[in-house]
Amino acid sequence: MSSKILVCTQCGYVGKAEGAIKGSMLVEIFLWCLLIIPGLIYSAWRSSSRHTVCPKCKNPNLIPADSPRAQKIMNESMSKEEIEEVVSKSKKEEEKSGNFKKKIYIAVGVSIGFFILINLIALL
Ligand SMILES: [Zn+2]
Repeated sequence: MSSKILVCTQCGYVGKAEGAIKGSMLVEIFLWCLLIIPGLIYSAWRSSSRHTVCPKCKNPNLIPADSPRAQKIMNESMSKEEIEEVVSKSKKEEEKSGNFKKKIYIAVGVSIGFFILINLIALL
């Protein structure tokens, strides 16, 4: 798995980016309950709007930590030890969130199956 450590070009933040997504989870659930099709479209629109922002300054211009420009920013603001610490910490967090994501996917899969079933019953 590739590392997702990013460097903020604005404030020099190094680490994992925060996921930002448009729209609301409530609207998504409401649409899913109402009908499958609008829910599907809305979910597709939301996931297409997914982007990453700096957790510190909300700047969307984050660059991968292994790019030459990021290396330059990091070397200017941090010592080698600090960089290594941030990198290893982010990797550990990534592993943790990977397991958490798996659980969410299972929960979402079960809910979608449930909604499809409800809609099928409503159609009959
Ligand atoms: Zn920033």
